[in-house]
Amino acid sequence: MRNMNPIGIFGGTFDPIHYGHLRTAFELMQALRLTEMRFMPAGNPPHRDITVANAEERLAMVQAATRDQPGFVVDDREIRREGLSYSVDTMRSLRADFPDRSLCLIVGMDAFLGLPKWHEWRELMNLAHLVVAHRPGWRAPSMGPLGELLVDRGTGRINDLHEARAGCIYIHAVTQLEISSTEVRKLIAAGRDPRYLMPDPVRALIEETGCYRSAEFARMQLGQK
Ligand code: ATP
Repeated sequence: MRNMNPIGIFGGTFDPIHYGHLRTAFELMQALRLTEMRFMPAGNPPHRDITVANAEERLAMVQAATRDQPGFVVDDREIRREGLSYSVDTMRSLRADFPDRSLCLIVGMDAFLGLPKWHEWRELMNLAHLVVAHRPGWRAPSMGPLGELLVDRGTGRINDLHEARAGCIYIHAVTQLEISSTEVRKLIAAGRDPRYLMPDPVRALIEETGCYRSAEFARMQLGQK
C-alpha cells in the first residue's frame, strides 16, 4: 500500500493562464486527493507553431497565478530544456525524480482527442495515469485507437490512481468554464479588460509586459489576423 498520494501534472502553453485552467486544477487536486498539482508550462510546443508570450512571460504568469494556493507547484523543466517539449520526455524526467509515486497527467478532453498525434503516445501510459478533464463541447471517443484505449485502461475508481503508479485513464467532469487563452488574447488585442477571466496578478503582468497587445497588433498590421 502506498503511503503517498499521487502527483498531478498539468501541462499547457498557458498563453496566458486563466481561471479555466486554475479551477480545473483545483477541482482535480481535491477530487483525486493529489499531494500536489504541478503546473508545467510548455517550452517549445511541438503541436503549435508559436506562442504569443515568450517562455519567461508565460512562466511568470503561471507563478503569479498559483502562488497563493497550497499544493500548486510550478515546474519549469520544459522551459529549461532545449529543443521540442515532448510530453513523453517530460514524464520520463518526472518518473526519474519520483520513481515510486503515482503520477497523474492531466489533459483536457480536446487535448486527449489529439493524443494519437503525440510523440510515443502509447509509452506515456507506462509512465503515468491519464486524467481527462471534460471541457465544454467535447465528447469521449467511443471508437478508434482512443476508444480501444478507454476500454483497456479506463477506470471509474479514484483508488486505482492511488494503488498503481501509472497505466489508467480516468475521466472527470469539472465545472465548465468556457474560457480559452485564444479568446483571452483576442479580447486583450481588441483593447478590452480580461478582468474576472484570470487572477489579478496575471492581469497586472500582461498589462506590464504588453505581451499580447503588441504581438497581436503587429500581426494585424501585417494582415495575418
Ligand atoms: P489556446 O486557446 O491557446 O489553445 P487553452 O485555453 O486551451 O489555449 P492550454 O494552455 O492550451 O490553454 O491548455 C492547457 C490544458 O488546459 C489543456 O489540457 C486544455 O485542454 C486545458 N484547458 C484549457 N482551457 C480549459 C477550460 N476552460 N476548462 C478546462 N480545461 C481547460
